Formats: sequence, structure tokens, C-alpha cells
Amino acid sequence: MTDKITRLNTTQSDFDNALAKLLAWDDSVDHQVNESVRHILHEVKTRGDAAVLEFTGKFDRLSVDSMAELELDSARLEQALTAIPADQRESLENAAARIRDYHERQNQPSWQYQDDDGTVLGQKVTPLDRAGLYVPGGKAAYPSSVLMNAIPAKVAGVSEVVMVVPTPDGVVNDMVLAAAAIAGVDRVFTIGGAQAVAALAYGTESVPSVDKIVGPGNIFVATAKREVFGVVGIDMIAGPSEILVICDGKTDPDWIAMDLFSQAEHDEQAQSILISPDADFLDAVEASINRLLPTMEREEIIRTSMTSRGALIHVADLKEAAEVSNRIAPEHLELSVEAPEDMLGDIRHAGAIFMGRYTAEALGDYCAGPNHVLPTSGTARFSSPLGVYDFQKRSSLIGFSADGADRMGRVASVLARGEGLTAHARSAEYRIKE
Ligand code: NAD
Repeated sequence: MTDKITRLNTTQSDFDNALAKLLAWDDSVDHQVNESVRHILHEVKTRGDAAVLEFTGKFDRLSVDSMAELELDSARLEQALTAIPADQRESLENAAARIRDYHERQNQPSWQYQDDDGTVLGQKVTPLDRAGLYVPGGKAAYPSSVLMNAIPAKVAGVSEVVMVVPTPDGVVNDMVLAAAAIAGVDRVFTIGGAQAVAALAYGTESVPSVDKIVGPGNIFVATAKREVFGVVGIDMIAGPSEILVICDGKTDPDWIAMDLFSQAEHDEQAQSILISPDADFLDAVEASINRLLPTMEREEIIRTSMTSRGALIHVADLKEAAEVSNRIAPEHLELSVEAPEDMLGDIRHAGAIFMGRYTAEALGDYCAGPNHVLPTSGTARFSSPLGVYDFQKRSSLIGFSADGADRMGRVASVLARGEGLTAHARSAEYRIKE
């Protein structure tokens, strides 16, 4: 590589600053994109289908007369399933089964308990009525995104999953449609960008409004999701992909180099970092990176990502590696060490933890089972992978017996009168026994 990958050492005096600089990324708001997205949202909100059709013609070069032509029915999805090669169908079905199996374990039942006086308290878990799934389709197709977003929604019990996917120039990707068929998506519209987000949020004559919009997308999609939040729920606004590998120095350096590439190839702003207590190993991985890079199809994207945002960090030991990792709170964390379970106690912040030398992060992207929609940009400090819980909400259950109303009414009365809220107090007092 002409530009070299950044090297850091926790012993260097400016390590804290250097790490902070490495983790910073350009998330500045693009005012032009904001303006354009606000305009699109307004148009779709006020003019419905007509505006969606216009923007689809303009941005996806797909001109049709009615929204009906942009909806694909279940027969079209089934057709895609038979059209794709057998190995693709088998792999999609295999991945879907594992993702379903994993997410079924996340399903939490409603619960309740009873006080001694017969008062019942609990929580009722209810799936969302309708979820909207954005599947990017501008430059590439992402069937894995369909599975990862739609399956948890269906496992959660969402009645209707509405998928939108742009088809620039009318080019439909059969693997994406096949994934939708396998995942049990209910309706599919071939629309994209901010206009699709707006249609899902506000509803149009043809597109039903949903309760939550999930799924990744480009800057127009992300900005639109941010804008409609509040009208509907959203999953998250994802930043660039990240991988952090902690290695004890005993894994094949080529494996580690390729694991770093696997996130770097997503985009120039993706971040791939290796931490090791073995300086010779860092040299060996750097040599692998330089040797393997020219063999990569996405060589230039990887090179830019690795040289602008990648790093090789030397630490004293694995304990310190975990400390640095916690400061980064990576989206993906590979523990490429002899006994990964021994390190787990020290790991506090990570979207997904890949344990041991054989666990390539790429398996998690497609078919391990856990979700690949993960918190990025340090947000693993406070958030979790997309899951069944994101498609359900909880209602508190409160059912007082006469004895309970008497006992707790007295408490409520005192507190309400302390707050000067007389109606609250009297409402509770009416139910107190004479
Ligand atoms: P996309 O579907 O997100 O965007 C295409 C749409 O953008 C078009 O339909 C169009 O309506 C709109 N658009 C394009 N130019 C516009 C303009 N000038 N004004 C208004 N709207 C415009 O597809 P994409 O562009 O291929 O982007 C996909 C994104 O999703 C990438 O950034 C990729 O990294 C990301 N992604 C992330 C994950 C993840 O898990 N984090 C997974 C898959 C994809």
C-alpha cells in the first residue's frame, strides 16, 4: 500500500488522543440532502401516490402510470424463488431457518403476578400491527438484509410486513424477492429512497402506513428515517460498518487480514482495527494486508478504508486489549484467541462478539443466526442488536382488588395531595373502604 495503515501503541503518550481521532468520522449533516428529503417527504405526505410515482420516475428512472404496477404480488415472489439457482435457494433457506430459530428464543411472553390482597400486576407483550422494511437497491442488492429484518418481525407476530425496495431502471433482483418469499414478507413495493420512507410513514392511497420502519439505506433513506421518527418508530441510524479483532498472535495472519477486509469492503468510511499484544504478529498481518489487497475485487474501497480509518494497535496484554475494545464499543468484535470465553467477562460493549479463531465475522453477516443489524459508532454502549423485541411493545397491567385499592389508595391519596392534585386524590379515596 502506498499509504500505510495507522499503528498505535497504548504506551505512546498521546494514545488517548490518537484513538479518539481514529474513531471520529464525518457525520456532518448535509444541508442539501436535508432540504431535498424534506421536500420529498412533504410532497408524498400531501400528494400521496402521485408524488411517489413522480420521484420513482426521477430517481429510479422507472416511469409507470399507477402504483399497482409497482406492487409485486406473492405469485411474483414465488416465481423469483423458482428462478434463482438451487444453491442460492438452499443457502437462503438454510440461513433463514437458523435466523428464525435464533430469534424464536428472543420471544418473551407476557407475564403477571398477584399480590397477597389479590391485586394483579404484569406486562402484556403485543407485536406491532404493521412494520415497514426498507431494503436498499440503488447500487447493490441485499437479500441478507431482507432475512435479518423481516424474520424477527414475523417471529414477533407482526401481522403485516411491508417491504420497499427500489428497482432502478426497473431491474428487479430475484434473490431479494426470493428472500422476501422465504421470510414471509406480506407486501412488496418497488419504490425506494426518501419517497418510500415517506409512503411507509404517512401512508398513501396504495401504500399502507406502518408503525415502525427498519432497514438500512443511503444518506437519503437515513435522513428520511430521522425526519419521520415520532410519526413512526425507527430501528436506528446506522453509521459505517466496523470490525475490531483482538488476536493473541496465534491465528493465521491471512485469516485476520481477510476478516479486516470483510468490513473494509463495505465502504471507504468502514473501520477495521486489529489489537494484539504481539508486535511481530501485527507486522505479519500488515504483510498479509499488503499481499492480499491487490487480489481483492473492491481493492480501492478497502485500501481507502484501511489507510484512512483502519489501525493496528499494540497492547500490553489481552486484559488491556479488552479495555481498549470497551472504549471503542465496536459493532463487530472478533476474539481470535485461545480461550475467548475467558475474555467475555472483560468485554462490556460490543454489538456482536465472535468467539474463537474459526468464527469469521462474515458468517454472522449471513447465516450464523443472530441478527446482523447491530449498533455502530460506539452506540453499543447503550443499544443492542435488532431483535424480536424491536417489533413488540409492552403494556403495563394493573388490576386492583377491593382490598388492594383500599391499601394503596391511602398511599396514592397522600402523595396526590402532596402534589396538590385533588382529582387524583379523590379518585383514589372513593375506593377506600369506610
Ligand atoms: P438505497 O436503496 O439506499 O438508495 C437508493 C435510492 O436513493 C433511490 O431509490 C433514490 O430514490 C434515492 N436517491 C438517489 N439519489 C438521489 C438524489 N439525488 N436525491 C434524492 N434521492 C436520491 O440504495 P444504495 O444507494 O445502494 O445505498 C445502500 C446503502 O445501504 C449503502 O450506503 C450501504 O452501505 C447501506 N447498507 C447498509 C447495511 C447495514 O447493515 N448497515 C446493509 C446493506 C446496505
